[in-house]
Parts: sequence; structure tokens; C-alpha cells
Amino acid sequence: MILEVLQFPDPRLRQVAAEIADDAVDDELRALASDMLETMYDEPGIGLAATQVGVPLRLIVMDLNWSEDGQRDPLVLLNPRIVEREGRSVSENEGCLSVPDLRADVTRAERVAVEARTLEGESLRREAEGLESYCFQHEIDHLDGKLFIDRISRMKRDLYVRRRKKQLRLEALEHPAPTT
Ligand SMILES: [Zn+2]
Repeated sequence: MILEVLQFPDPRLRQVAAEIADDAVDDELRALASDMLETMYDEPGIGLAATQVGVPLRLIVMDLNWSEDGQRDPLVLLNPRIVEREGRSVSENEGCLSVPDLRADVTRAERVAVEARTLEGESLRREAEGLESYCFQHEIDHLDGKLFIDRISRMKRDLYVRRRKKQLRLEALEHPAPTT
């Protein structure tokens, strides 16, 4: 099932997500992870956090290697956390499914080590660099209620917020809410 991806400035994007207990992995959570992957491929994107679909749980999905012809390499992580970070680099042209019409360079750690649990209850440790590392940092930020626009210059952010509010006002004029 395709889920609705919340868009800035939806306040639910600012919630800090809760840890998932080991015994909380049930069919409902598995279905959520599967729906999140389907939504991510549909958008299309390479990562999605549960926060972005309005579920404040520490769950992310990623796939950096998928292709239009059906190749899939999904990663589903519960309670992911960055346990090591090293180096500084620029994540060029970063974007977010929840922040429409904006791409910006973001300074991030070049390499990270991430620890998490899988849906099968196994512990997992992953070392990543470059795009994969930026993606981990971006998705884990979502679980803490942070967006990539929090990590760009105030001037760029203010410009974007103004542009976005104007766009939302125009949309509201074009599609007025029913008055009854
Ligand atoms: Zn995002």
C-alpha cells in the first residue's frame, strides 16, 4: 500500500520517534516496513523514515541500488543509531521527499558506523561512506525530528520557507477547502 508522505511544514515531521521494543515486532510493523518500501520506490526515493509517513517509531528503510527494471536491495532498520562518525564531506544536491522543490549541499560526516536491529530480531552493524553514509545520517535525523534544511545556511532556509509558504497559499487559492 502506498502511504502519504508528509510535507514540510507538517508539524509531525518534528516529532522525536520512539524506540521499538524487541517484542513489538509484529505483523503490523512488518506491513508498515513493506508499505514504506513500496512508497519509497513509488515516489521515487532511496530512503524513508517512519516519521515521514506519520508514524513516530524508530524505523527506516533504504535502498541505494534499486533500478527501474526491478532490481531491489532493501534495507529495513529498527532503532538505527550512529555509533561512529569520521571525516567531513559535502553531500551534494541533497533532497528529501518531505521537502518539495529543494536541493542543497549539506555538510555531513564522510563515514559512519550504524548499529540497528532487523525485523528478524538480529543485531546489525554497517559501515558506510559517501552517499550511503549521507543517507543514514539523513534518515536518522528524521527520527529525531530534524530535516536537512536545518543543516543549510539560515539565509537559504529562510528563502525556502518563504517560497514554500507562498506556494501553499497559491495552492489553497486554487483548491479552496469546502466551507460546509
Ligand atoms: Zn528526508
